[in-house]
Amino acid sequence: MTQTTAKVTAVHKERYELIPCRDGLRPSAGANSAPLYGRLKTGIYMNGMEPYPTVGDIVDILFNPQGDSVIIKTHSRRSYFSRLDPDPGGHREQAVAANFDYVFIMQSLNQDFNLRRMERYLALVWQSGATPVIVLTKADLTENPSRQLGEIESAAMGVDTVLVSAVTGSGLDGLEKYLQPGKTCVFLGSSGVGKSSLLNALMGADVMTVKAIREDDAKGRHTTTHRQLAALPNGACVIDTPGMRELGFWGEEGDEGISGIFSDIETVLGGCRFSDCRHQSEPGCAVRAAIERGDVAQERWESYQKLKREALYAENKAAAMREKSERNQHIAVWSRQRKKEVW
Ligand code: GDP
Ligand code: ZN
Repeated sequence: MTQTTAKVTAVHKERYELIPCRDGLRPSAGANSAPLYGRLKTGIYMNGMEPYPTVGDIVDILFNPQGDSVIIKTHSRRSYFSRLDPDPGGHREQAVAANFDYVFIMQSLNQDFNLRRMERYLALVWQSGATPVIVLTKADLTENPSRQLGEIESAAMGVDTVLVSAVTGSGLDGLEKYLQPGKTCVFLGSSGVGKSSLLNALMGADVMTVKAIREDDAKGRHTTTHRQLAALPNGACVIDTPGMRELGFWGEEGDEGISGIFSDIETVLGGCRFSDCRHQSEPGCAVRAAIERGDVAQERWESYQKLKREALYAENKAAAMREKSERNQHIAVWSRQRKKEVW
C-alpha cells in the first residue's frame, strides 16, 4: 500500500470519507465525486498517539485501491472547533471541524436574530484561530435591518457583516471575498437559519449531501455524525456544522437552556441530604431515590449529566477567552499610556 495524504470530507461512525490531496493541502478537482474511504489504524489512534480526525483534517493514509484505506496520521491543524467528547468516560477534547479560514456566523433577520448567541459564536470563532464573518440571512424578509445592524456594530466591532438572500441571490457577491479557491469556510448557525439554502445558492445546483445531512439530523444527533465538507465549483470549500449544540452550547442561554428542559431533574437535585452529593452511593441521595422509584429514567439522568458536562466545558472555554481578550486590552491600554509618558 502506498502512503499519501488526503482531506477528510465527512465523518461517519467508524468510516471517514476522504479526497486525495494534490499538493498535500488542497483537494484535487472533482472533490464532490466518488469518495475514498478510510478507517483509523487502531494501534495508533486507540493509544491516543494521534488526535482523532474530523472534517477538514489532512491525514496520511495507506492507500488501498481494493477497499478502505488506513488512516495513520492527523496533520497539525491551523484552526479547529472542539467540544468535550460526549461519550461516557471520555474526557478528551474532540475536534468537530478543522483547517478553516473563515466562519460565517449565520443568523436570519427574522425570528432567529439573537445578539447573545452571536457573542457566544464570536468568542468561539476567535478562539478557533479563524476569522469570523457575520452573515445575516433571509434579507428578502426584512424591509429595514438597521436596528439589527446597529446592535451588531456595537457587539462585534470591526467584524465584517454581510446581508444575503438565498432566494433572490442578493448579497451573495459579498461572500466572494472569502470563498476563494483553496479557502475553507464554516457555516455556523441554528437549524433553519438557511445554511443549506445558502450552500445550494452558491453551488448553483442542489447538492445531494445537503439532503443527507438533514436526514441524519432528524434521526439522532448523537449517533450519526453529519459534518460534511463540500467543494464549490470555484474550488472553495464549505463545512456545514449543525450549530451551537454540536459545540456544547445547549439552547439559547447555554446552561439555563438545560435547566429549562430538565426542570424535573433539577427539582429532585435540590433534595439530596448533602449539598455536595455526587449522586452515586451517598446516603439520602434524592436522585438515586427518584431513579429507583421510577420518577426519573436512568437514561434521562445520564443525558442530563452529559449535556451539563458539555455546557460547562463550553462555558469555561468562552470565559477563558473573554478573560484573555480583556487582559490583552489592558495590556494595550497600558502600553499606550506608557508610550505617552515616555514621549
Ligand atoms: P438550515 O437548517 O440552516 O440548513 O436552513 P434551510 O436552508 O433548510 O432553510 C430553512 C428555511 O428557510 C427553508 O424553508 C428555506 O426555504 C428558508 N430560507 C432559506 N434561505 C432563505 C432566504 O434567503 N429567504 C427566505 N425568504 N427564505 C429562506
Ligand atoms: Zn444526590
